[in-house]
Amino acid sequence: MKATIDKLFRTGDASNEELKALMDLCDNEGLKEAAVARRKEHYGTAVYIRGLIEFSNHCRNNCFYCGIRAAQKDLRRYRLGKSEILSCCNEGYKLGLRTFVLQSGEDNEYSDEALCNIIYSIKSSHPDCAVALSIGEKSRASYQAYFNAGAERYLLRHETASPRHYARLHPTSMSIENRKRCLWDLKDIGYQVGSGFMVGSPFQTLDDLVSDLRFLQELQPDMIGIGPFIPAQGTPFAHMQAGSLARTLNLISMLRLMFPYSLIPSTTSLASISPQGRLLGLEAGANVLMPNLSPASVRTLYSLYDHKDAFSASGLEILKEEVSGIGYEVVACRGDVKSQKDEN
Ligand code: SAM
Repeated sequence: MKATIDKLFRTGDASNEELKALMDLCDNEGLKEAAVARRKEHYGTAVYIRGLIEFSNHCRNNCFYCGIRAAQKDLRRYRLGKSEILSCCNEGYKLGLRTFVLQSGEDNEYSDEALCNIIYSIKSSHPDCAVALSIGEKSRASYQAYFNAGAERYLLRHETASPRHYARLHPTSMSIENRKRCLWDLKDIGYQVGSGFMVGSPFQTLDDLVSDLRFLQELQPDMIGIGPFIPAQGTPFAHMQAGSLARTLNLISMLRLMFPYSLIPSTTSLASISPQGRLLGLEAGANVLMPNLSPASVRTLYSLYDHKDAFSASGLEILKEEVSGIGYEVVACRGDVKSQKDEN
């Protein structure tokens, strides 16, 4: 396997069969070492932090895997208003956060005008901060309006690039074509775009994961978020098996080698399946953490899956110590993506 790791390190690519073998690797020391070396070349020991504000758990969609899907009956729904969102940002700013990620289900109660107003207000109060959105599939005109209001980044996982697999995870009202259309529109408008997928979602094959990597090579996103699928009570997939920690870590390392400059979060779902998951993600090649800034009163209601680890920004000092314990450093800055141009 050493030859394949070397090839991925040198060229940033490998054949489909080689990629599948790496995903299944049991002893990942060599792969991890290569990924860490590549990550240190471009980002040193810096770990960027983003404050996550989950501002609404209402959703019009019915993704089979998701705990806040529209059909989820026993869930108390909430929405945060503009002033609550702004106070989350103010609190985060005091803690040193310089990027705010506004995430929600697909909730049509927030008009484009209202969202633009919120984005504009955050940017006016904190011009040195970046605003990222993660609010799902919208029209190109809406994406343009948010961009004009000051949003610079957008996170939209493609979830799975395989049409066969996509159809097993979503109702027929949703399509991979529209998901991809959104991603291309976002890129074309000028956003720093984040995409990604779940690892071990039901019916996923290794070939599906290869399609995911190939799609990311086409898209060339600035950020790539992956995490294990975790079953959520009350959903059609409640009794399915969770994705594996080992495969997720292998894929993080592979992504670091294939997309050396990308911003790769060590995700909440990774932390939710293993107590050490967040640090293991950093040690596999990830370089971003996303502490939660949502008010404590609603944090448990954004229940995408069971036993979600709601890691709060107020615990940032402890986190900083943990991160420095493994040789990295949490840095307070916007944490923009780097490119080869920056290093020439
Ligand atoms: N509505 C927006 C969207 O569709 O992009 C953002 C919110 S959505 C709930 C955020 C992400 O949560 C999804 O992209 C999905 O990958 C992840 N997610 C949802 N249910 C999950 C589960 N059961 N296990 C792991 N991740 C899950």
